[in-house]
Amino acid sequence: MKEKTGKITSYQDLIFGYRHTDHRLHTYGKVKEDDKKYTLYKIIANARYKKTLLITTGFHGEEFNAPIALLHTFDKIVTYAKKRRVRLIVYPCVNPSGFDLRQRYNASDEQPNNDFMRYVMENGEELGVLEKDEHFVHYNIVDSPAKEVKLLKKDILKYLLIPPDGMIDLHQQEGSLENGEIYAYVFDRTPLYRRIMRKLGKIAPIAKNDLCTSNEDRREVFYRINEDGLIVLHDGTITDLFYQKGSKFVVTSETKTTMPLEKVAAINLIWIKELINLIASK
Ligand SMILES: [Zn+2]
Repeated sequence: MKEKTGKITSYQDLIFGYRHTDHRLHTYGKVKEDDKKYTLYKIIANARYKKTLLITTGFHGEEFNAPIALLHTFDKIVTYAKKRRVRLIVYPCVNPSGFDLRQRYNASDEQPNNDFMRYVMENGEELGVLEKDEHFVHYNIVDSPAKEVKLLKKDILKYLLIPPDGMIDLHQQEGSLENGEIYAYVFDRTPLYRRIMRKLGKIAPIAKNDLCTSNEDRREVFYRINEDGLIVLHDGTITDLFYQKGSKFVVTSETKTTMPLEKVAAINLIWIKELINLIASK
C-alpha cells in the first residue's frame, strides 16, 4: 500500500492521497472558483468486471470527513471489491471548493448541489421532493446551478443508460440529531438495510425517531427517521435518480459531523462492503 493519508486539509491533499494509490485519476471537468482552478476526478477500479458499485461523496463541503474517510479506506475497498468481482466507479469529492472552505455549497454559493431531478405531478406541477407514497406522472433530469454538479451530471449520463447495480452517496449531518449519530436514506429493501444498520449500531448509536425537514422549491416536507435509523424519501438527489433509473441497491450514508474520522471510516466501509456483497450475490 503506497497510500499517503497524512492530515488532509485541502482538496489538493485529498487528490494527492489518491495519487499515491495504484489507481489512475480520470478528469471529468474543470471549474474555477474563487480564482482557483479545480480539476474534477473520478476513479474506475476493477474495470474488467460488469457488476458495478458507484460511489459519490463531498457534495456538501462541511461534511469533509466523508471524503477523507473514503480515501483512508480506499485500498481496502478496492481489494474487497476485486475479490467479489465488482467494478467501482468513484467520485471522491464532487464539490472541491466547498471542501476547501468547509462550507456546504461551492465558493460561489451556487446551490443546491445535490439536486438532480424533478417529479412531474398530475396537475403539471414540478416538485423536488415527494410526500410519503405520493403519486407522480414522470420525472425530469434537471440542470444544476452549481457548475461542478453540472459537470458531474454530464459525466454520469452514460452510467444511467446501464445503471450500476448499486450506488452509495456518503454524507454527514451537522446538528439536529437528538437521538444518535448515524442514519441512512434508502428507497426500498428495508429488511436488508435494517440488518446492516444493526451491525453499524455496534460502532455508533443509531439516530431513531428524529424529525427532519426537506425544503425543495418552496415545498416543505416533514419526515421522521424510523426505529431502525432509516428514511425513505424521494427528494431528487443523485441516489434518487439512480434508484429511478433502476439501480438495485441505493443508499445515502449519514454520520454526524462531530463523529471522529476513524468511526466515519469504519461505518462507511461496512456500508460499502455490504453493498459489494449484495451486488456480488445478485
Ligand atoms: Zn450532505
